[in-house]
Amino acid sequence: MTAQIIDGKAFAATVRAQVKEQVAHLIADHGITPGLAVVLVGEDPASQVYVRSKGKMTTEVGMASFEHKLDVDTSEAELLALIETLNNDPAVHGILVQLPLPGHMNSDLVINAINPAKDADGFHISNVGLLGTGQKSMVPCTPLGCLMMLRDHHGSLSGMNAVVLGRSNIVGKPMAQLLLGDSCTVTIAHSRTKDLAAVVRGADIVVAAVGRPQMVPGDWIKPGATVIDVGINRIDKPEGGTRLVGDVDFDSCAAVAGAITPVPGGVGPMTIACLLANTLTACCRANGLQEPE
Ligand code: NDP
Repeated sequence: MTAQIIDGKAFAATVRAQVKEQVAHLIADHGITPGLAVVLVGEDPASQVYVRSKGKMTTEVGMASFEHKLDVDTSEAELLALIETLNNDPAVHGILVQLPLPGHMNSDLVINAINPAKDADGFHISNVGLLGTGQKSMVPCTPLGCLMMLRDHHGSLSGMNAVVLGRSNIVGKPMAQLLLGDSCTVTIAHSRTKDLAAVVRGADIVVAAVGRPQMVPGDWIKPGATVIDVGINRIDKPEGGTRLVGDVDFDSCAAVAGAITPVPGGVGPMTIACLLANTLTACCRANGLQEPE
């Protein structure tokens, strides 16, 4: 293996420690406790794990955590009413509605009902527009975590060729916007892209967010490139049981890349750390206080 491992777990711990320190100052100096409300509808097992983990880490950094668990057959109107309550609650600075929502709900409608200033996930259409036009916004947590790792590793990203695999609204598109904002030359690839291997081979930075286990092999990677693996896929182990893998084939990619994020322990922990950082930012903005760096 030649690649340097980008340790997202350690980086996320550092980010959380900084958030914790700033939360302590907010409480001590201003009597303000940042609060994050997480809304889960239904009993999707993966979502339950994420929500539990978000709640635990929110409390660990000294913020108030408000969990709202609703039945799978909750009506859209009931969910919208809860969001309205949270929008008007001064103790709540960040709101996150865990996706995916049950099929009878319109996710766009629900997300766009969140006060954009409290939109901790950055999915509200106003925040999408602000990000796209380079204005101050709430930035989606997963791409923000990827960008922080890239900046930490490279310093400036200016002029680098970046290929984002995947064009979802929650990862691929905002990732591309952020890389463009840092003056990369950005290509967004997707399931209709022709000769994906050749496209990826031109990249100094590859961000893989396709949701296909180990799809990217090492011979697609330009020697020395930086590979950020967003994928979280559970696969069967030959000896029984399951394990988590990313969207890139770690071993073959690590043999060629200059740096690579592991799965688990890469993008995942950074996503939650950025959620906490976003909540802190929202709290500072709501109270007219200086934002954390
Ligand atoms: P989506 O399913 O919404 O999007 C997947 C994208 O990948 C689509 O744009 C799709 O193209 C593209 N794609 C699918 N198959 C191929 C292929 N064979 N070749 C090229 N492109 C392809 O996924 P998400 O963006 O929500 O998530 C992506 C991955 O990231 C998942 O593994 C998810 O679990 C993980 N994830 C991890 C997070 C973390 O915190 N670490 C947070 C969020 C997601 P098209 O549009 O043409 O269909």
